[in-house]
Amino acid sequence: MGSLEGKVAVVTGAAQGIGLAIATRLVADGARVVLGDLDADGAEKAAGGLGAGASAVRCDVTSEQDMTALVGEAVTRYGALDVMVNNAGITRDATIRTMSLDDLRIVLDVHVAGTWIGCKVAGAAMRAGGSGAIVNISSIAGKVGNFGQTNYSAAKAGIVGLTKACAKEFAKDGVRVNAIQPGLIRTAMTEAMPEQAWNSKMAEIPLRRAGEPSEVAAVAAFLAGPMSSYMTGAVLEVTGGRYM
Ligand code: NAP
Repeated sequence: MGSLEGKVAVVTGAAQGIGLAIATRLVADGARVVLGDLDADGAEKAAGGLGAGASAVRCDVTSEQDMTALVGEAVTRYGALDVMVNNAGITRDATIRTMSLDDLRIVLDVHVAGTWIGCKVAGAAMRAGGSGAIVNISSIAGKVGNFGQTNYSAAKAGIVGLTKACAKEFAKDGVRVNAIQPGLIRTAMTEAMPEQAWNSKMAEIPLRRAGEPSEVAAVAAFLAGPMSSYMTGAVLEVTGGRYM
């Protein structure tokens, strides 16, 4: 029996990359999973590949209405919400000298407001059942600050503060809230990076390789399940040792 047997999970930004790897891992561990993504066709296709235990909903994480509907789908279809993974994300990289205020605002909106809404709606659904686990995907950029990513670094640091504050507010209801800070993980987001930037990041990684989405997913499954029952407000780095 998997460690998440009978549990119900929602993963945002799950049509591809780390979100899809997390949904795949949660299904493998026994959970039924609703995949939310802006990309409706991609999410449908991804859920189809995961079998009967998965379904998809088009969802923009910056919309409270969409997120309420996404969590509502999990509760209506499967009867509860046990796990929420706030993973959806975007980048709009430029140095601050050339970055527009719009590029700051959209990145903060998706990461900070999107995760805040995810915590709010999931927390309400979990409170009813007296337990739950929320996993927020931050980034090592939120710890160290990345050149060319003032917007993204601020957003990912914001997710850390939000995670800790929610952990304190939700603890009395049996709901745990933790975060992951991945380093360089091989996905569409990082494949778009110039080769020079990729190589300079690789040189900083003690384990001497990029991480795979499945390696972030394994940590998300740990935080979602009973093995982390005494952890809340924690931030786990999955970086191959970079910036330890
Ligand atoms: P990805 O391959 O670009 O996947 C992100 C997914 O989120 C896409 O399917 C995207 O849909 C979706 N999305 C974007 N905006 C959304 C919104 N407003 N509402 C709902 N879905 C939305 O990225 P990834 O590399 O897997 O990253 C996943 C998470 O890990 C992000 O939070 C990212 O910041 C974080 N992270 C990644 C790395 C890395 O090295 N890859 C490192 C640290 C942290 P569209 O394609 O339609 O936009």
